[in-house]
Amino acid sequence: MLNIKPPALVLYTERMIPARFAGFTIGALVLIRPFYRDDAGLLVHELTHVKQFWRSLGLSLLLYQLSKTWRLRFEVEAYRAQMACYPDDRSVLFAGFLVTRYGLKITQDEAVQMLEQK
Ligand SMILES: [Zn+2]
Repeated sequence: MLNIKPPALVLYTERMIPARFAGFTIGALVLIRPFYRDDAGLLVHELTHVKQFWRSLGLSLLLYQLSKTWRLRFEVEAYRAQMACYPDDRSVLFAGFLVTRYGLKITQDEAVQMLEQK
C-alpha cells in the first residue's frame, strides 16, 4: 500500500476525545492528546482512519458507527499500521484495546490473530 498522508487537520488537544482514547478521528479531523504528541504510531493509526474516510467518500463515518463488522475492520487496519511504527511487538496490547474499547464482541485470541495476519 502506498504510504501517502491523506488531507487531514491534526490538532493536539484534550477536547472532544472520549476518555478511553489517546486520539480520536472524525472524518479528516484528527484529535490527539498533547501527551501523545511524539507517538508517531498513534498519528499513523488516526491517519489510517482519515484514509478510510476519504477512500469511502465519507461512508466510513456511518459504517463505523452502525456496523461492528466494519468498525472491527477499520480498527484492525489502523492498529496494524500503528504496530508497524514500533520496534517491539504490541499485538497483545492492541488486541486488548480492540477487545475492551470498541464494543466489539471478539476474544483476545481472535484480536491477536487478526492483528498478526499478514
Ligand atoms: Zn482507531
